[in-house]
Amino acid sequence: MNKCKVVAVANQKGGVGKTTTTVNLGVGLAQQGKKVLLVDTDPQSSLTVSLGIKNPDDLNTTISDLMQVVVDNGNLSPLDKGILKDIEGVDLVPSNIGLSSFEVSLVNTMSREFVLRSYLGAVKRNYDYVLIDCMPSLGMLTINALASADSVLIPCQANYLSTKGLKLLMGSIAKVRRQINPELKIDGILLTMVDSRTNNAKSIIAALRQTGSNLRVLNTEIPFSVRAAECSVEGKSIFAHDGKGKVAAAYTALVEEVSTLEQRNRNRPGADRGL
Ligand code: ATP
Ligand code: MG
Repeated sequence: MNKCKVVAVANQKGGVGKTTTTVNLGVGLAQQGKKVLLVDTDPQSSLTVSLGIKNPDDLNTTISDLMQVVVDNGNLSPLDKGILKDIEGVDLVPSNIGLSSFEVSLVNTMSREFVLRSYLGAVKRNYDYVLIDCMPSLGMLTINALASADSVLIPCQANYLSTKGLKLLMGSIAKVRRQINPELKIDGILLTMVDSRTNNAKSIIAALRQTGSNLRVLNTEIPFSVRAAECSVEGKSIFAHDGKGKVAAAYTALVEEVSTLEQRNRNRPGADRGL
């Protein structure tokens, strides 16, 4: 089997399209025949809810229980314990509000940065891709995601404050590389909710792409569409909700771009750090 690629979908800025991207990139990759595991590391459970699980707090086993097993040096068998199977072709490790107190308890844990990595190390052999939906913070759960990942994908809106916030994120990524995960690559910035009719968006995108020699901005842009906003309420991917629309087409393009990047990294290991 192919080596599994673990991607953290991260940005400490809230509401930039991390969860929407995790769902649609994941379902899109699954439609290409890839085996995909999505991991919800946000106590808000947006990913879990977006995949149709209406009451995450009723679930018996979630990511915090599985990470607790790792902390306790317990037995993770069966390995697929708690994984919800085949939701629109993807598997899901759900989360619920219990993750919030778990994050606090991590502070007193040995090797606290590596708990998620240990868990994924055990389960990822069954998958081609693991996508981790991060919460909007640079706290211990996001550090765990970055420590587990081969690469990070950064959804970002085309507005001034969002792009300014990127500096903070890049600082954290640099720190994780120095101290925890030197192999971490950056897939790039994914522009989301793009309304290309506005001059403001146009000039910010142009500026970002110009400094793109420092940081890759992906070619794919996800357009703004109310149809995309409806998806989380429906608990469905954009492919199930509006498969012929412009957002589905954009996420299909993203699947291709991410697959091409992956191919390139595989052929030239270590060559492309995205910076
Ligand atoms: P958080 O930081 O809270 O986890 P997030 O970065 O995961 O947020 P999402 O939840 O994916 O962001 O998206 C924020 C909101 O924007 C949601 O209501 C979502 O439905 C909506 N949205 C996402 N993508 C689009 C789009 N392309 N067009 C319009 N609305 C969108
Ligand atoms: Mg989210």
